[in-house]
Amino acid sequence: MGANHPQWIQALIFNKPQLLKALKEKGHDIKDIKIRNYFQKKNPKAHAEKEVWANHPSRIDIHGTSQCSVCNLPAPSGEISLWGKCGLCRRKDLSTKNNY
Ligand SMILES: [Zn+2]
Repeated sequence: MGANHPQWIQALIFNKPQLLKALKEKGHDIKDIKIRNYFQKKNPKAHAEKEVWANHPSRIDIHGTSQCSVCNLPAPSGEISLWGKCGLCRRKDLSTKNNY
């Protein structure tokens, strides 16, 4: 039996003796009901954020460095492969476009 809400678990634990008794009276051969707490699982959102950072294009430690073909300065390879230039040049491009 799984429960993912603290109040639900509390209610289940509180009602367990009655629930067990009721089930036994209906002819079920049950010795005990196990209530597992799934609430302790890792926060899926926090996990996703970690994943995003792990694959972030600006991470030199994972993707390594390349040379930007626009400013000829070393830049994270992730940025080069994503935008064809470093993040700084991309930002310059974007701000230039916004001026038109
Ligand atoms: Zn550049």
